[in-house]
Amino acid sequence: MYREDTIAAVATPPGEGGVAIVRLSGPDAERIARDIFVRSGGKNGALRSHTLHRGTIRDPKNAAVVDEALAVVMRKPKSYTGEDVVEFHCHGGQLVTRRVLELALAHGARQAAPGEFTQRAFLNGRIDLTQAEAVLDLTRARTEAGMRLALDQMHGGLSQWVGALREELLDILAQVEAAIDFSEEEIDHLPKDALNAKIDALKNRIAAIVASYEWGRLFREGARVCIAGRPNVGKSSLLNALVGAERVIVTALPGTTRDVIEESVNLDGLPVALWDTAGIRDTDNPIEQAGIDFTRRHLEVADAALVVLDGSEPHTAEDEALMKAVRGKKGFLVVNKNDLPEQLDRSWLAEAAPDKAIVGISAKIGTGLDDLKGALRALLLAAPVEPEIVLTNLRHKAALECSIDGLAAARAAVTSAAPPELIALELLEAKRGLEEVVGIVDSQTVLEHIFMKFCIGK
Ligand code: GDP
Repeated sequence: MYREDTIAAVATPPGEGGVAIVRLSGPDAERIARDIFVRSGGKNGALRSHTLHRGTIRDPKNAAVVDEALAVVMRKPKSYTGEDVVEFHCHGGQLVTRRVLELALAHGARQAAPGEFTQRAFLNGRIDLTQAEAVLDLTRARTEAGMRLALDQMHGGLSQWVGALREELLDILAQVEAAIDFSEEEIDHLPKDALNAKIDALKNRIAAIVASYEWGRLFREGARVCIAGRPNVGKSSLLNALVGAERVIVTALPGTTRDVIEESVNLDGLPVALWDTAGIRDTDNPIEQAGIDFTRRHLEVADAALVVLDGSEPHTAEDEALMKAVRGKKGFLVVNKNDLPEQLDRSWLAEAAPDKAIVGISAKIGTGLDDLKGALRALLLAAPVEPEIVLTNLRHKAALECSIDGLAAARAAVTSAAPPELIALELLEAKRGLEEVVGIVDSQTVLEHIFMKFCIGK
């Protein structure tokens, strides 16, 4: 998989810009630079490493100038990839960069595959797999919080944490392996309770991190919350009140909001997309029916639902239909219009949706909104404080889950007084899960899959 050749690519996005970078990495990078880059002032000695040099990029065949550029050589091992790297900082135009790249290719470089620079950094031990993946997360981050999580990971937060857990696991493993050397009757002297306590502690710590994946995903991608309720209960008013602006038309005519309207709010750093949807009811109007189907689909994919009811009226058949539609969905029952005398039968409500807490508000005068925001944030994150490490990558989560399974199996083996060889086998499984996270893996397909997600030039 690792070829000892020199790769090249345009590292900056396509299009016009002030500067564009063509990047080379590999044993021939510097030789190619000498072939096609002519320094200003007639200098022709070796290019000093980690220094910008001014000059022109020329086609040596006819000495035609392609661009005026800056070149920097970063000799191994002090470079991103751990190999000799050359970067040409050219004028930012698609044609210019293409010509420079073509020249590099004509002089022996190979067009890099997506993520191949980062892959080389990984294969040369410059970064581990979690850090390589963090590079990708960083380039894709959409919120400040997502960016911060990626930076933490890039600086090795997750790797250190996994390394520490692996040490603990090796301790337990050593204890079990020591027992393998003892005779049959002595195996019983393996301190079962103490061993299980250690396995449990380790398992719980990994489980807490696995749980943090949801936290990471929500901060990175934002949460999606569906506001549902029959027409005229105050959904649009609630959306406006939460967003703090008159964006959604509020009318006294039922059925005004037919499409799904999305507005973003920031719940104390957590980005949330709020969807104001049509109500759910029986209708002959095909347009309205389409809106209702749309609501159902949005309800399905939302992270939580705010089920709005009109507290100033008794419940209707539509409310009942809605209660059924949101069964099992994480969310709150929001009883609106509590500035008016209450007519809604709360005991019916508690019976119809026993899994949901009730929050009373008035979207019109603003009461109860802060409580609702706080409760919604807590419900979405399912954890009041930020975990010590936040997982943001599904692959890490799956590997850690394997590790937990291994520990659970090891615990069961200890409890049933299984031979220590068997316990050790399960613990090795748990160890492999941890090692997969940081990239001590030998599966080529896993690695290729990861790096394929990068863009060319990264
Ligand atoms: P939607 O159809 O569910 O989106 O409901 P709207 O937000 O359009 O509101 C329907 C009507 O109820 C409007 O006339 C609002 O002014 C009124 N309304 C909304 N919230 C409240 C509230 O908290 N108190 C009172 N008294 N009226 C409200």
